Amino acid sequence: MKPTDVSEAVALQQAISLLKHAHRIVIFTGAGMSAESGIPTFRDALTGYWSKFDPMDLATPEGFAVDPERVLGWYAERRAVAKACEPHQGYEAVVALAKLKQLTVITQNVDRLHQRSGQINVIELHGNILEERCNNCSLIDVEAPETEMPYQRFCQACGGPLRPAVVWFGENLPDEALATAVHELQACDLAIVIGTSAEVYPAARLPSLVKSHGGKLIVINVESTSHSDVADVFLLGAASYYIPKLVDGISGRKF
Ligand code: NAD
Ligand code: ZN
Repeated sequence: MKPTDVSEAVALQQAISLLKHAHRIVIFTGAGMSAESGIPTFRDALTGYWSKFDPMDLATPEGFAVDPERVLGWYAERRAVAKACEPHQGYEAVVALAKLKQLTVITQNVDRLHQRSGQINVIELHGNILEERCNNCSLIDVEAPETEMPYQRFCQACGGPLRPAVVWFGENLPDEALATAVHELQACDLAIVIGTSAEVYPAARLPSLVKSHGGKLIVINVESTSHSDVADVFLLGAASYYIPKLVDGISGRKF
């Protein structure tokens, strides 16, 4: 056995022990959770969207005002990718864990893979790309268009332009989702943070919320982040590998 194998095994046992003793758990996911389902992350240098596009053109209200067709076309493509992808076994393990423990999923992802895997009560901090909403009023349209042109459609209630039901750079997170997320993070005794670079608020201040009341923090990521620096246990590796291992460890079930 290599020294790294030993330390990985020890870290996994420590994480399983934290999970066994936890009563109220938050799973907090970012784009890395969906990477193995085939959805590119934003910041991963080689495959990330931002290495090919300028976020200021595609994911801001200003970019939408300048060239709505371009923005909507890009979202239509991403929507098609998301629909074609399937949740991996890490998602199934989260659903299995929710049957064993009190658990809330908070996600920054907009792809709806948690819901498609059967998870209920998912708090979406950044909305979702499968729906559109009116840019002027609160109307939500659940039938966002597929990839055919033209992309731009208008609100049946007020005539305003419809847009992806996501949170863009410079926009506020939905009040209710944010308040619920903060409450859950302050009330949980264990948070498992998976596949987020921890560069975007409120993810960046997550550890302080969990740890300020004595909660424990497990981080799963293929790279170290500001979260892994303060985690009780850092599992350096892929989401689809470590989440099933954790759930196996407390349930005896094999994924
Ligand atoms: P990010 O791209 O900034 O960071 C992704 C993180 O995932 C990185 O730290 C990376 O090391 C890690 N990662 C990559 N593959 C992994 C794997 N297999 N297992 C575990 N970790 C892995 O993404 P972010 O932190 O979520 O923040 C950026 C924003 O991008 C979010 O606000 C989100 O709304 C949006 N986004 C969503 C999706 C999606 O819905 N799937 C995709 C791209 C971006
Ligand atoms: Zn409207």
